[in-house]
Amino acid sequence: MSSFRNIKITCPACNSEGAYTVWDSVNVDLDPDLKSKVMDGSLFTWVCPNCKKSFNAPYSFLYHDITHNFMVYFESEKSHIIPFAEYLRVMENGLDMNAIAAIAAKFRDENPQMNILFDSLTVDKELLFSVLEMPNGIWEFTERKHSISYDEYLRVCEEIK
Ligand SMILES: [Zn+2]
Repeated sequence: MSSFRNIKITCPACNSEGAYTVWDSVNVDLDPDLKSKVMDGSLFTWVCPNCKKSFNAPYSFLYHDITHNFMVYFESEKSHIIPFAEYLRVMENGLDMNAIAAIAAKFRDENPQMNILFDSLTVDKELLFSVLEMPNGIWEFTERKHSISYDEYLRVCEEIK
């Protein structure tokens, strides 16, 4: 099961105190609504009850997926939720993270200032990636998708062996 604690947090903008729900473990089979919050990073969003400003307040937690049979610990000091969520999607689809990283590296070589993150596997077994741009030193998601065939993915798997 999922477990959480409510901690007190002080708003950096107005100094008001508020409660923040911190999840120690997230079981996405029992709490599927938490899964979407991990995927879009909103698990770490805190909204000040006073000034209504929202802040990103990351913490470490255990992610448990029974359906796909894996458990992985997110360490907030060492990792960021966006690549962590990508890693989860790769695991769910039974893909090889090293191959996904190699595909992304090749894409970056051909498209400087751009990056891709694995999004999903389509019914036609195409690998769909979200395209990110880095105009101001910060990665930004775009509406663009990059897709490669499953055969191409298998070729990359062979290449990196
Ligand atoms: Zn505030």
